[in-house]
Amino acid sequence: PLGLTLSHISHSYDMPSGTRPVLDDVSLDIAPGEFVALIGPSGCGKSTLLRLVAGLETPDTGEVLAEDVLVTEPDPSRIIMFQDPTLYPWRTVRGNISLGLDIRGERNPEAVAAAIRLVGLEDFAKAWPHQLSGGMAQRVALARALINSPRLLILDEPLGKLDSLTRLAMQTELFRLWKRQGFTALMVTHDVEEALLLASRVIVFSPRPARILADIHVNWPEP
Ligand code: ADP
Ligand code: ADP
Repeated sequence: PLGLTLSHISHSYDMPSGTRPVLDDVSLDIAPGEFVALIGPSGCGKSTLLRLVAGLETPDTGEVLAEDVLVTEPDPSRIIMFQDPTLYPWRTVRGNISLGLDIRGERNPEAVAAAIRLVGLEDFAKAWPHQLSGGMAQRVALARALINSPRLLILDEPLGKLDSLTRLAMQTELFRLWKRQGFTALMVTHDVEEALLLASRVIVFSPRPARILADIHVNWPEP
């Protein structure tokens, strides 16, 4: 798993009305293998922080280090799953999940089948994206991310569109996978209960521009 260091990150966007500060001197050390949940008011800057960690944007000031290497661009060791995943409309569910493998010219039908089972889409493997609900699309995106064995999994409200039963099942699966595969996870969620259940650490942000208000290490006693 990948360790992360964010040091003194500030970031703002240029708007017609002037600059809009979204991150205000955020510093954070994440050890390899931690499961960190980010919570805070809507619009405070959480997704921006995820994009900086993924290397999709560069901070105005400060730096993001992944294992002491400066993050400047996206990398397959750091997979990001967006809230509204883009599925390729001309690829089936299976084809979307195997995308990363296909691009690298790897064939691994067992891994693809296992990923499809993991997210419970066996009956939809041959379906097309337009035939799926929003929640199913999120499950496809999760399987597509996991099949690439990321060292850091970056999740922006990954389960936000699921009905409560599927959500519960996917929370359990995500937690098991993290325990088993030992990737570092960084997840934005609006669900405080989900944050407390899944994460080993919960970071609470202020309203925009985001500052860290609380940094809570969650250590549930073994049942
Ligand atoms: P959160 O994920 O906490 O809801 P975001 O990081 O998405 O917050 O957004 C923080 C603020 O920055 C919001 O006010 C949003 O409108 C603004 N913002 C986000 N992305 C951009 C962008 N690419 N250009 C301009 N403003 C943006
Ligand atoms: P393309 O430009 O080839 O259409 P995309 O940029 O849409 O590809 O990305 C394809 C998939 O890779 C998307 O599901 C996206 O979530 C994921 N992705 C985005 N950023 C990263 C990253 N930093 N590392 C790995 N995968 C990423």
